[in-house]
This record gives sequence, C-alpha cells and structure tokens, in this order.
Amino acid sequence: MQADTISAIATAIGEGGIGIIRISGDQALTIAEKIFKPRKYKSLREVRSHQAAYGVIVRPGTDIVIDEVLCLPMYGPHSYTREDVVEIHCHGGVMPLKEILALTFEQGARLAEPGEFTKRAFLNGRLDLSQAQAVMDIIQSKTEASLRLAEGHLAGRFSEKIQSLRHSILEMIAHLEASIDFPEDDIEDLATDEACNKIMEIRAILGQMLATAKTGRILREGLETAIIGKPNVGKSSLLNALLQENRAIVTDIPGTTRDSIEEYVDIGGIPLKIIDTAGIRKTEDLVEKIGVDKARDYVNRASLVLAMFDFSREISVEDEEILQLIKDKQALILLNKTDLAGKFELARMKSLAGQHRVIEISAFAEKGLDALTEAIQAIVYDNGIQPEGCFVNSVRQVEILRQTELHLAAAAKTIENTLSADFIVIDLRSAWEKLGEITGDTVGEDIIDQIFSQFCIGK
Ligand code: GDP
Repeated sequence: MQADTISAIATAIGEGGIGIIRISGDQALTIAEKIFKPRKYKSLREVRSHQAAYGVIVRPGTDIVIDEVLCLPMYGPHSYTREDVVEIHCHGGVMPLKEILALTFEQGARLAEPGEFTKRAFLNGRLDLSQAQAVMDIIQSKTEASLRLAEGHLAGRFSEKIQSLRHSILEMIAHLEASIDFPEDDIEDLATDEACNKIMEIRAILGQMLATAKTGRILREGLETAIIGKPNVGKSSLLNALLQENRAIVTDIPGTTRDSIEEYVDIGGIPLKIIDTAGIRKTEDLVEKIGVDKARDYVNRASLVLAMFDFSREISVEDEEILQLIKDKQALILLNKTDLAGKFELARMKSLAGQHRVIEISAFAEKGLDALTEAIQAIVYDNGIQPEGCFVNSVRQVEILRQTELHLAAAAKTIENTLSADFIVIDLRSAWEKLGEITGDTVGEDIIDQIFSQFCIGK
C-alpha cells in the first residue's frame, strides 16, 4: 500500500449537477470525518462501507458550511484502489469542489497525480496494466463499438488470453529445464519436439491477434478520413448529412486553439476522424474550395479517402486527376447528386475506378448513406473480425506482441539448428518476459509512470 493519502476532483471541471471529490489512502476516513457532518450519524465512522450518508461539509473549527453533500465511504480492499476511499458528492460548481478539495489538503491529503487512483489500483493488484489502460480507453471511447472494445479489455478478456499464452510458454520452459536435468533419458528430444509444436501454435495465435490490431486501433483512435472532390460536388453536404444522421463527437484538445478541435463522425460504430472539417465547411470565403493540391495533401494524410464526383456532370480533367491521386490508396468512390438527371458516364467511371468500390449517393436526399456505412464497415472489419471481438488496440501492445513473436521465431530457429535445450529456454524466457509487459507483470517503473501520466487527474 502507498503511504500517503491522495485527493482530487474526479468529475469534469465546469458547471454540473453534481461534482465528486475522491480521497484514497490510509487517512481517507480520518480526513473526511473532520470536514463532514452527517445529519443522521454522529460521525462518518458509523456509516457502513458503500453506503452514502447525507450531511454538510463544514470548515473545521467553525460553523461555516461549504456545501450540502452525500459522503460515500468505501473501505479497502473493497474499493477502486483497494485502499480506504471516500467520495464526497457535492454540487458541481467550480467553487464548492475547489473549497472542499482545499479542505482535504489542509487535513493532510495531497493532490493526486494524473492517473494515480488507477495506478494504485494497478500496484495493489486490483487491475493489470492492460485493464488499467482500458479504463482510459473507456473514458475516451468515441462510439459504441469502441466502448465495447474497451470494456472487454477492462473485464480482462484480453489479459486472460495473454496470461494463458504466458502459461503455455512457462510450461514449455519447465519441461525443457527438466529434460536438461536428466540428460541420460531421451526426454530432451521429446521436450524439444513438444516445444516445436507449441511454439508454432503460439506464433499462429500471436499472428491472429496482430491481425486484429488495425481494427482495434481504428476503434480506439478513429479512422483518418479525407473527403475530396472538386468544388461543389457536395463534400460539405455529405459531411452535414453524416453529422446530422450520426452523432458528431468533438474532442477539444487542451492547450490548443479551436483549429485543432478533432471531429469524429460515428459511422456504424466506427469513429471517422474527418481531416479538416473546418476546411470542408468553409464556403463563401474561398473561391477555390478544394483544388487538386489541397486534395493531394489530404490524401497523403488519410487512411481512407472518400472521393466525390458529381453525377450530374461529365467526368472532367480534374476528376481524372483526383482518380489518379487515389490510385494506391484505400478509397471509396462516391457518385453524388444521383437525384439529378445524370450526364455521368457510369461505365467509364467504373473502369477508371480501378479496384475502388463505386457507391451512388445523394447527400441532398440522404440516399445511399447506408451503402456507404456498410462499405466502411467492410473495410474496417476485414478478415472477418467481429465488432464484439477482443482486439489488440494500442501501439504499445502491438509492439510487444511483435517482439514476442520474434523471440519465439528465434526459439524455433534454435530448435531447427539442433542446439541444446538451454538455448531454447533462453529464447522462451525472453518471450515470456516480453508478453508480461502487456499485463504489467514484467514492466519497469518508468514505463508504468509514463503510461499513467497520460491519464487525467482524478482517475
Ligand atoms: P462542396 O463544395 O463540395 O462542399 O459542395 P457543397 O456541399 O457545398 O454543395 C454544392 C452544391 O451542391 C450545393 O448547392 C448543394 O446543395 C448541392 N448538392 C450537394 N449534394 C447534392 C445532391 O446530392 N443532390 C443535389 N441535387 N444537390 C446537391
């Protein structure tokens, strides 16, 4: 357990119905007891764990009431951090929260660092590292599908998979080591054969897990999408139609100007991060709304391109340039304004489109948007991955799995070269240790600090 008691505002800052201050540590109850006067009880100590008591926060030594609150004691180890925790639910304004927080400091708590509550939950064995990261992912999830993914990780489904792989590797190590101890028997050959098969099996599982990484990352971080096309093809109309029908998710990045607000569109559960929504929306003040140069820049930055063409006009030179730009990109071709009489040479377009799928839409009449959603889902959930599945979802996890794979490949090579079991064990041990970095079993303090520092304060 950690020595000192920490305290922080756990709810978002701003005006809200309620705000919560969370205190965790040995002194949590003592501190809360000094500032909380319950209505029905003599003291907070009489309140049962996980039961809220109504009362007021009073400045100690005075009659000054700061706010009317509910106070919720949670005795360790049955709490988020496994330490004694007290939550004070007050009115959600900046002043009551700040004043109550200050009182907790006066009574001996210190301000929690970002992610420190979750870090304590991890250090006290309540969560493993992958689950702790999932807490952050839940907070930041952008669509229902991203939330489900993060919840699966928090529930430990991903960790279980990793632990079972580690267990298999450890078993192999044990068998091989036993065979080294009894060199006169031919267990060594047997153990090596067994290890060879098992390594192949685990490598295949790692390969499958890595194949989910792309989908996992998209669900967690969003799919960088560019909408390109000549002026007036209907880019901003499409954007508006998508935003109207689907929830727009706007994340304000702290410390930056409004220009870097990130806007996501939820398309069938996939968060599309549209590149430069502001640029697309600008209408009156820009004569040339999006020229080929700008389109080139967008295309370079995007993972998915939605290239729009006007169905009511003939294919122009610029259209052909745009098609040229997306030749090697992941793209969908949208023929917009299909509600108008078409001058468009559909057959020619289909041949120019190459491998890209052509979807007929009308941003105006909001037609064809379902087909667009399905096409995007098909791209994201390729290789038959189901949205409910358990994905690898962070760059860190991908890197660890890749390196584990390399250690196992080395072990396989060692077996192939008929080196002795000692050498196979060395490779296997590296793989086992590497894999433990996902759950945090074998990870250094600096990495732990770095991961938790990305959390928000109060979490
Ligand atoms: P942008 O320059 O590519 O962003 O194009 P806009 O979205 O501003 O659209 C240009 C014009 O085309 C506007 O007058 C829209 O109302 C119109 N427009 C956009 N989509 C459609 C459509 O599907 N059908 C019809 N008939 N008009 C559309």
